[in-house]
Amino acid sequence: MPDDCLFCRIVRGDISVPFVYETPQCVAFRDINPQAPVHVLVVPREHVASLDAARNPALIGELSLAAAEIARREGVAERGYRTVVNTNAEAGQTVFHLHLHLLGGRPLGWPPG
Ligand code: 5GP
Ligand code: ZN
Repeated sequence: MPDDCLFCRIVRGDISVPFVYETPQCVAFRDINPQAPVHVLVVPREHVASLDAARNPALIGELSLAAAEIARREGVAERGYRTVVNTNAEAGQTVFHLHLHLLGGRPLGWPPG
């Protein structure tokens, strides 16, 4: 867990952020700059810099199924929602600790920008 990683600090509790959901492998909290009425970040407790650096298929599955559970709890599962993993610079990744965005609660355009 790198000292200087923002999401590691949130996972450790150094920065106090309410978790909307957690499992032994991951935590989820609301994005500070929400792009939709529901915008939750699902983050592995373990530091992994990006999807490109990920090697554990079970962990990736955990993030996706956590997002599906949160979507049900937030009441957007039937309407529809989107999960997004921005990977590296051209996709706009700004925090280099793997995270899955869960977006819902409004119509979502396609293709994304
Ligand atoms: P990325 O651009 O890397 O895919 O997503 C990073 C996300 O983290 C952005 O949507 C940004 O708003 C969010 N974020 C950045 N800093 C913080 C923070 O301190 N707290 C929370 N809750 N979200 C943050
Ligand atoms: Zn980290």
